[in-house]
Amino acid sequence: MITTDQIKEWGIVGAGGAGFPTHVKLSAKAGTFIVNAAECEPLLHKDKEILLHHSKLFFTGLRTCMQLIGAQHAIIGIKGKYQELIDLLQPYCTKDITIFPLRNFYPAGDEISLIYETTGRAVAAGQLPITQDVVVQNVETIYNIGRQQPVTTSFLTVGGAVAKTMSVEVPIGVSYRQVLSWAEPLVENYAVIAGGPMMGKLCTDLDQPVVKSSGGLLVFPKDHQLIQRHQIMGDEKAVAKIGRAACDQCSICTELCPRSLLGHPVKPHLAMRNLIFSDGVFKADQSMTHTLSCCECNLCTLMACPEGLYPSQSCIYNKRQLSQAKITHQGGGEQGVHPLISYRRMPMEKVMSRLDLNRFVNKGPLMDIPEEITKVRVPLQQHIGAPCQPLVKQGDRVEAGQKIATCSTNLGAEIHASIAGEVVMVDQVAVTIEKKAELAQ
Ligand code: SF4
Ligand code: SF4
Repeated sequence: MITTDQIKEWGIVGAGGAGFPTHVKLSAKAGTFIVNAAECEPLLHKDKEILLHHSKLFFTGLRTCMQLIGAQHAIIGIKGKYQELIDLLQPYCTKDITIFPLRNFYPAGDEISLIYETTGRAVAAGQLPITQDVVVQNVETIYNIGRQQPVTTSFLTVGGAVAKTMSVEVPIGVSYRQVLSWAEPLVENYAVIAGGPMMGKLCTDLDQPVVKSSGGLLVFPKDHQLIQRHQIMGDEKAVAKIGRAACDQCSICTELCPRSLLGHPVKPHLAMRNLIFSDGVFKADQSMTHTLSCCECNLCTLMACPEGLYPSQSCIYNKRQLSQAKITHQGGGEQGVHPLISYRRMPMEKVMSRLDLNRFVNKGPLMDIPEEITKVRVPLQQHIGAPCQPLVKQGDRVEAGQKIATCSTNLGAEIHASIAGEVVMVDQVAVTIEKKAELAQ
């Protein structure tokens, strides 16, 4: 039987988010294990491709997760519109593993929304899923457990304005630039969002490396509305200035907020109201702790606000102030699940059309990478918690899968070489490995 120590040794972290160490998550005991296969970010398809091409290993990983947490039941939450994929997975399911077809809304993959949709249980604000006897894990993480080997690759979809939309499995540490070149961007003047269009981040450095939690690289013309919106989203001063000048307090952002619909206290319109009365200052006091239950889905900014304002960023920048000041939510403000929740879910069709995404190919077939990777820069921190300490030095020769950095605390994950070669640089943030010609022979 696989243990959490082995999972730590393999360096497995949550492949779909901030990189929470998987061995820590699977140390909990819970009756229900939920697979987050919602993949609700537009244009991303790598999880579906993993399920399609690696179902057997995925189910091996799923059974391991169930054993580790002692779950009697597992639920695979996947969009009902992918009926062919569901049919393919069905033969692997037994009476303790069921598939829950999700409706096609955003953000169906928000962990708390997923738990509510699949079990009817509402996790309270500031609480973890374990309080509802549930552990949630995403597809790629479960697949990595099923593989039973160190994590040296990451899956991502490359899409948007490209000639070849694809999902690929790449060695960790390869540059975004190299991955993008395989997809052949169709426009010269383009910008890249790392992740999905809703929650991804505008990429400022194409030489940065793919990490364990990478999920997508999306190319857009620089004048596409999403690029312009994401540019402002990353500018704290602009968000504050626009917020204090233009919000009419209609509160549609709060009415459509998925966390608010689940009864959490977050009220983006109040975060915007604060900007009006605080002259654009993100305050750090108890009156703003409602923002801590924002899941940063950006639905309020990119879809709900009729004025095109930035309520999600008002919440996010406020959360940062609160966490710097170490102010936590003291409870209160919860309202119970909204009776109209199922009518207020944001249909994906609307997201696609409002964000002008229908003009791009919405598929990401899994393809082999077209060239050998001869250089990687493997970051020492790809997870929540302390960074790893390197175990190798310049000039060392390493094999793919060899441990090259280790974490001294439990909240961390080991790092392994993703290609064989020579260590050409070790600095504060990464180990660079190159496959030199003489080594390749
Ligand atoms: S941010 Fe937009 S949706 Fe929210 S209250 Fe202001 S104008 Fe309305
Ligand atoms: S980003 Fe906006 S819609 Fe999403 S949880 Fe936060 S406040 Fe709610």
